[in-house]
Amino acid sequence: MDTALADRLAAVDEGIAASARAAGRDPADITRIVVTKFHPARLVSDLYDLGVRDVGENRQQELSAKAAEVGALDGLRWHFIGQAQTNKARAIRAVASAVHSVDRSRLADALDAAAPEQGDRLDVLVQVNLTDDTGRGGVDPGEVASLAAHVAGCPTLRLRGVMAVAPLDEQPARAFERLRGSADAVRRVVPDADWISAGMTGDYPEAVAMGATHLRIGSAITGPRPVRG
Ligand SMILES: *Cc1c(COP(=O)(O)O)cnc(C)c1O
Repeated sequence: MDTALADRLAAVDEGIAASARAAGRDPADITRIVVTKFHPARLVSDLYDLGVRDVGENRQQELSAKAAEVGALDGLRWHFIGQAQTNKARAIRAVASAVHSVDRSRLADALDAAAPEQGDRLDVLVQVNLTDDTGRGGVDPGEVASLAAHVAGCPTLRLRGVMAVAPLDEQPARAFERLRGSADAVRRVVPDADWISAGMTGDYPEAVAMGATHLRIGSAITGPRPVRG
């Protein structure tokens, strides 16, 4: 067993618990997703053995290949957190339990159309762009409510809340305040859509303080990512 991996996981979980307590929150209300992108499938199995049940990937091909290699593991949930093309929706839906990165109605429609004959609704989050750069992933905050309404109308999708990445050039706490506004906008459309997916290695304490329910943490747990070939 990889003791360094176990130690990093434990240290991050302690950090999450401390941040939660400081914010008067129950750590049990926070889901820690380990982002395994660029790492081999073996890392997912190792994490599973350490008790991890939520992992995140940001590219469809890598998600599909890794899920096939890892095979069925009871209770393991794959979270898709990357930009998605509509023609990848079927492959993503075949593996993912949740898609955090729905940023346009056509993607919601493609995920909806990719539903299997039977099965649960797919958990989806509206990704919000907190930067001024429209080329970044996510919908403009002003369009969150209308996208949420569209997703809510897709019969095989379950709108869960919002997701965002904090901009590099701004205090994360400030950016996350705006995300909270978008989370409120989504809840006016679907009152029980109370997930807030925010917080990475560099800013998860601020995300917990703001009310994040789902943290997406990579390198603090996995170690540095291998350079992508
Ligand atoms: C890679 C990635 C993360 C994790 O980043 P770290 O800084 O390694 O924790 C979180 N969210 C998204 C969308 C990512 O692509």
